[in-house]
Amino acid sequence: MKQLIRRSIFLLLFVSMLIAALFATQAGPAASGRWYKGNLHTHTLNSDGDSTPLEVATWYREHGYQFLVLSDHNYLTPTVSLNEIVGAAEKFLLIPGEEVTDSFEKKPMHMNAVNLAELVRPAHGTSMSATIQNNVDAIRKAKALPTLNHPNFHWSISVQDMLAVNGLTHFEVYNGHPQVNNPGGGGSPSLDQMWDALLTAGRRVYGVAVDDAHRFKAFPRKCRIRATDGSGCDLVLSVPMRSPVRWRPATSILPPA
Ligand SMILES: [Zn+2]
Ligand SMILES: [Zn+2]
Repeated sequence: MKQLIRRSIFLLLFVSMLIAALFATQAGPAASGRWYKGNLHTHTLNSDGDSTPLEVATWYREHGYQFLVLSDHNYLTPTVSLNEIVGAAEKFLLIPGEEVTDSFEKKPMHMNAVNLAELVRPAHGTSMSATIQNNVDAIRKAKALPTLNHPNFHWSISVQDMLAVNGLTHFEVYNGHPQVNNPGGGGSPSLDQMWDALLTAGRRVYGVAVDDAHRFKAFPRKCRIRATDGSGCDLVLSVPMRSPVRWRPATSILPPA
C-alpha cells in the first residue's frame, strides 16, 4: 500500500513538472503574441485607386487578411464607419492611414503615415534628406508611424539620404507596384541592399513589404498574366523580377567613412 502511495506521489510530481514545463514553454517569446496578416499600403477612389474604400476593404477581408491600411495620396480615408461594416474583433480591422506625397526637385518622396488621427500635409524640405526628415517629424507629431515608401521609385532616394534622417524606423523593402524598381539597376542598389546598408550602419530600421494595390476591377492591357486573386497585375508582374545588378557588399553603397 505504502509503495502504491509512493508511486502515486511520484506520478503526481512527474505530471505537475510536465504541466509546469509546458506552461513555461508557452510563456516564451513564441507564445507571447499572435501573428496577423495585413497590408500597410493600399489605394481607393479617394486617390488613384479604382474602387471604393468599402470594395477594397471587402476584398482584403474576403482574401484572408486581418488588417488593412487605406493609404490614399494626401487624403485620410475615414475608417470608423467602414469598421462598423467590415470590422470584427480579432478578425478584421481597418487602420487609418495616408500616403503623404511630397517631392524634392521633382523627385517623389512618398511616406506612409500609419494609424493617424488627422491629415498630415506634405512638409517639404530644402534637400531630399530634409524632405524625409520633415515628413517623419510631421507624422510623428500626429502620433502616427512613418514608413518611407519605395525609395527606388524614379530613383529618388539613396541610402545616404536615409542615413541623414533621425527617427526613420521603417521603410519598404518590397513594394508590389510595377514601377518602383525593387531590384535596383543602372548602378543603383536594390532595396534589400539598401536595407543591408542601413543595418550595417547600425540603424534599427524595419523592412516592410506591401502590395501598394490600386486596381481591383480593371485589368490593364499591359498585364500578360492575370492575378488569380483579383489583385490586378501589380503583384503578378513583380514576382518574377530578378535583380539586374550583381550583388555587392553593402558597404560599397555607403559614403566613404
Ligand atoms: Zn507611392
Ligand atoms: Zn501608394
